[in-house]
Amino acid sequence: MKRIAFFDTKQYDKESFDRLNNGRYELCYFETRLTAKALPLVEGCDGVCAFVNAEIDRTVVEGLVERGIRILALRCAGYNNVDFEAAFEKGLTVVRVPAYSPYAVAEHAAALLLTLNRHIHKAASRTRDFNFSLVGLTGFDLHGKTAGIIGTGKIGSVFANICKGFGMKVLAYDAFPNPALGLEYVSLEKLMAESDVVSLHCPLLPETKHIINAESIAKAKPGFTLINTSRGGLVDSEALLAALRDGKVGGAGLDVYEEESDWFYEDRSEVTRQNKTLSLLISMPNVIVTSHQAFLTREALANIAETTLNNLDAYFAGKPLENEICYRCLKTGGAKKSDCPRRKNGRCH
Ligand code: NAD
Repeated sequence: MKRIAFFDTKQYDKESFDRLNNGRYELCYFETRLTAKALPLVEGCDGVCAFVNAEIDRTVVEGLVERGIRILALRCAGYNNVDFEAAFEKGLTVVRVPAYSPYAVAEHAAALLLTLNRHIHKAASRTRDFNFSLVGLTGFDLHGKTAGIIGTGKIGSVFANICKGFGMKVLAYDAFPNPALGLEYVSLEKLMAESDVVSLHCPLLPETKHIINAESIAKAKPGFTLINTSRGGLVDSEALLAALRDGKVGGAGLDVYEEESDWFYEDRSEVTRQNKTLSLLISMPNVIVTSHQAFLTREALANIAETTLNNLDAYFAGKPLENEICYRCLKTGGAKKSDCPRRKNGRCH
């Protein structure tokens, strides 16, 4: 039976994978993230399964391949944490779960927006103290406001529909607009200038890093609400903090944070030297931080386990890999695998 080293394991991962594995693989669960230090754990394994905050740099890629690992199964959609050039050079195949529930993430974005706008977090803690005052809890109607959606793929398009359901006007920006969605695509500048709510749903790439920065905030509609359920690196956290302080940003709902890998997913309440910017953001009444939990629904967990196990089945059976990510494909635009010069029998590697 093939052995898979499974990193960054949480109880909910074990439950969903054990339920769907049905004895197909020996899943060796490790709590640690996949980093260079964790490499000895993969000895004797045939494949590796890692999550969103693994640090799969060149050293890790080389270390995996030296230990006989040829398949890295990411059980997440994002893949900005992998050195694909190194994976390509060393012959490490990388697969992922491109879609498990866009609804889970889009609904979490909506939850952050409503919580912030209607001050639900403050109201809930007040009523626990039998404080029934409404002073300071005034929100605004979403109906009639403008939502600016950056990235209109699987999640962004679901969030656009949710916003339309609230009666909001939707503006969209995407490097590759999708006419089939019937959205009003505008320039990033126009979107920022006219949106009351800006929600991020594009991937973290060199060209999208800090897409929300001091300059874009300066040109934005004063007091807009920022929602980020995509990747922390899309937002310059220092610029956001400054803009929250002077009111240029009215509120921020953040499920992701630039330096989250050192903090998120674990109980860090005992750590005395906390990240200063994150502490300041969390301390603001108009900021809500969740710990990269937008994906965390029963449906999404089941889909993640099923697709990851199917990816591994296809790899070990020598079948085409529809969820493979390849360095060449990424360099030529990412989407059209059929154009990959190395693609043979449905595989790039
Ligand atoms: P997707 O690939 O379906 O959509 C991404 C969209 O971004 C595409 O329409 C693409 O054209 C667009 N895009 C690419 N480059 C761009 C650019 N330079 N500027 C603007 N738009 C650009 O991806 P998805 O499934 O909708 O996921 C979106 C993001 O959500 C992922 O990249 C991932 O980082 C994040 N995510 C977060 C969680 C969570 O738990 N918080 C879970 C899943 C995904």
